[in-house]
Amino acid sequence: MYKSKDILVGAIDLHVHASPDTIQRPLREYEVAEVASKAGMRGVLLKNANTNTSYNAFFIEKMVSNFEVFGGICLNHPLGGLNASAIDSAVRINELKPYLKVVWMPTIDAENDGIYRQTPKKGISILDDGELSIRTREVLQKIRDFDLVLGSGHISLNETKILVEEATKMGIRKILVNHVDSPLFEMNIEDQKELRDMGAYLEHTLAVCMPSYIPKPVSPNEVAMAIKKVGASSCIMSTDFIDMYQPNPAEGIRMFVHLMMKNGISREDVDKMVKSNPATLLGLEPF
Ligand SMILES: [Zn+2]
Repeated sequence: MYKSKDILVGAIDLHVHASPDTIQRPLREYEVAEVASKAGMRGVLLKNANTNTSYNAFFIEKMVSNFEVFGGICLNHPLGGLNASAIDSAVRINELKPYLKVVWMPTIDAENDGIYRQTPKKGISILDDGELSIRTREVLQKIRDFDLVLGSGHISLNETKILVEEATKMGIRKILVNHVDSPLFEMNIEDQKELRDMGAYLEHTLAVCMPSYIPKPVSPNEVAMAIKKVGASSCIMSTDFIDMYQPNPAEGIRMFVHLMMKNGISREDVDKMVKSNPATLLGLEPF
């Protein structure tokens, strides 16, 4: 019997958005940490498209006992886009270093995101003439040198494949392809297997299954099928919460775990995806 409380003990949500942010969120970052800690979770990684979240992670972790909080940098326009010095300076702020874990490629400012949403803004591509741009390579060097996690953000599937291949060649070992079920990428199972074989982890988020997900929710069964075909050892389950219509991330992880188990994923595999694999990516003691 898988007791409800056991589900969350050791769980880490690698994809949490909270207030303060440019869009309205129902909880502040420290409130998310309090709720998740009380629910028995091990930690959360805060994500914000506009700012480096490791500053807040540093302070919030001091406020919440027996709980780990991490942050990262999204290379969108506010951080200077593909700006290696943003990573460099964050790492050099000595007390922040243990809290800065992920560098995401552009998300809401990615060229691919703009094309998908048909916005007129000038989006950021990681490519120049079909190959990684010099700025992208500089960013990857920092990620490798500081042993950070490379997150793919909202770049296109083609960009992701080129990125993961080159990053692996450069010696980057911690790679997370974000929200693979999102229609932003049109990524099929063969694409996911190809990225897995290059050494990347594939992130599945509960946000895409929520009833209000635009253009339409992905069925939990579809997510479970992808996990079964690709293998839980290369997958991560996170929430990508919280928008106003979503519950807190601890509830999200609990829901996600039950939905996956209901769709045939074993407890052992769920634990890999919410506990062991996130810990490995963050360089923590295994669960
Ligand atoms: Zn997100």
